[in-house]
Amino acid sequence: MLYPAIYGNDPLFPHYRDFQIVDKDDLVGKGVISFRAFERGALIAKITGERTSDIRQHTLQIDSDTHLFDTWFSGYFLHSCDPNISLSMKDMTVTALKDIAPNSFLYMDYAETEDHLFRQFPCSCRASNCRGWISGRKELPASQLHALSATIGTGGHY
Ligand SMILES: [Zn+2]
Repeated sequence: MLYPAIYGNDPLFPHYRDFQIVDKDDLVGKGVISFRAFERGALIAKITGERTSDIRQHTLQIDSDTHLFDTWFSGYFLHSCDPNISLSMKDMTVTALKDIAPNSFLYMDYAETEDHLFRQFPCSCRASNCRGWISGRKELPASQLHALSATIGTGGHY
């Protein structure tokens, strides 16, 4: 199991033989690779971790006040605007959105779970529908915030 024994030994938790956190490249850092194939719609794994009230690197949002801090598995999923997995933070499950070939990285869409990101970032996923700049689903991209504050900030405080 990738998770320590304190979280129990649910047989649906990810196993070492199937998944590994690996360095992808300098641009995106670490990601989760799957050594086995999954058919579209298949359950990939159940997830767990420490529940926390703050947004950190490697947290995923459970509800408006609760986040899952998981540095063993799900906290290392990479982002794509054309993801191959979907997360249910209610059921704590990861499901395949597409057929996944062995030795593929698992990609989620961070805006699926996150209202606000720990850090917004420019996307390099190269999907045809790439949003270019990734923010949470309830926050404006930083570029729009800059434009907005520039508009509002004409009141002459200087
Ligand atoms: Zn993208």
